[in-house]
Amino acid sequence: MSNKQLSQANSELKNFAHTASHDLKEPLRTIGAFTKLLKNKYGEGLDDKGIQYMDIIDTGVKRMTNLISSILEHSKFESKALALESVDLNILLQEQLESIELMIKEKNAIIDSNPLPIIFCDRTLIGMVLYNLINNGIKFNSKSTPTIRIASSNSHPDFYILSVRDNGIGISQKNKDKIFENYSRVAPTDEFEGSGIGLSTTLNAVKKHKGNIWVESEEEQGSCFYFSISKYLNNNLIPNHSD
Ligand code: ADP
Repeated sequence: MSNKQLSQANSELKNFAHTASHDLKEPLRTIGAFTKLLKNKYGEGLDDKGIQYMDIIDTGVKRMTNLISSILEHSKFESKALALESVDLNILLQEQLESIELMIKEKNAIIDSNPLPIIFCDRTLIGMVLYNLINNGIKFNSKSTPTIRIASSNSHPDFYILSVRDNGIGISQKNKDKIFENYSRVAPTDEFEGSGIGLSTTLNAVKKHKGNIWVESEEEQGSCFYFSISKYLNNNLIPNHSD
């Protein structure tokens, strides 16, 4: 297959994922809505087991809705061209934290950050990267006070390096690369919800910024995710941080 055919097949596949996941949401909404109606209207006639079965359907519907949303987001970000602008990462971080305010409160999480730079990047994509890493740091965490620290380093000549450190469940040596693959989940799936899409979308977003993402972690010892963004995205002298 030629490169052109490959890229066409790839883009058709992305379109398919987008359309299929979009269409899947509709019947799912119907199942969810009618389960709720059934429970409201006939719930009193059901015994405990009946109510429990209804709740299981409800949880399944919610999980599948989240999964489909992740697939939709993924295909959207995959095909998006970079929209570069000057972005104050401190403001971008605040915006992301506001969007998970409820989760931060519920989980009693502490988030702190060193002053971050103003950089040239795609604000939607880098916002999504910060969101995914912080969200994961709180989610894959069994501590009574999940603590996330965001920092940046300007010591590399070609790349801004940002880090998101957590005190969560950690990642074993053998799973460190696997987690960046599509649909890969390594934490116990009955304990921690997820789709396994977030980190692969994150990897894709930083690659688009000519950067890379990697993790330092040990089981039970927390994790620190690092990602790099090229300092030269606004001209053609772009070094690559991947290899
Ligand atoms: P999701 O969060 O939807 O499961 P991700 O692609 O974001 O998908 O993450 C893939 C897997 O990597 C997760 O299911 C989890 O097992 C592991 N993981 C990601 N972030 C962390 C973290 N901060 N601490 C421990 N494990 C993590």
